[in-house]
Amino acid sequence: MKKIASFLIALVLAGLFFAACNRGDELAPPKILLTEVGHDNSHVAYIGDDIHLEADIEAEGRIKSIFVELSHEAGNGYKIVEEWTSGKYIGVKNTEFHEHIDIPTNAPEGEYHLYLTVADREGNQSQASASVDIRTPNQLPNVRKS
Ligand SMILES: [Zn+2]
Repeated sequence: MKKIASFLIALVLAGLFFAACNRGDELAPPKILLTEVGHDNSHVAYIGDDIHLEADIEAEGRIKSIFVELSHEAGNGYKIVEEWTSGKYIGVKNTEFHEHIDIPTNAPEGEYHLYLTVADREGNQSQASASVDIRTPNQLPNVRKS
């Protein structure tokens, strides 16, 4: 009797799992893996320079747009935004996103939050985030990063 009961429970659970996995043929939302934020994934960028960004993006529903936002955490509402809606990243299922975002000379220094948002053509949207430290560049001569 006990064996039958647990068999039935297993059957019900398997049925639920099957149902959960077979709701039509909806495509998975985009997957984003931020691989590098700043050179060597340092999470540091300098005012007046740019920030190197790399991410692996997988979108079964094909990429419609990529949106990058860097928002200053001090609460002053300062933001750096950039968006891609055409070009090599758009309309594909897989891409290696690699861009350099300019940090304007009037950007305040401090901690920023980076958001990378990917929307697909099926109406799905995913976001990855990371922290970035935006600093005033070192003014010493001969100190220039490559
Ligand atoms: Zn780069």
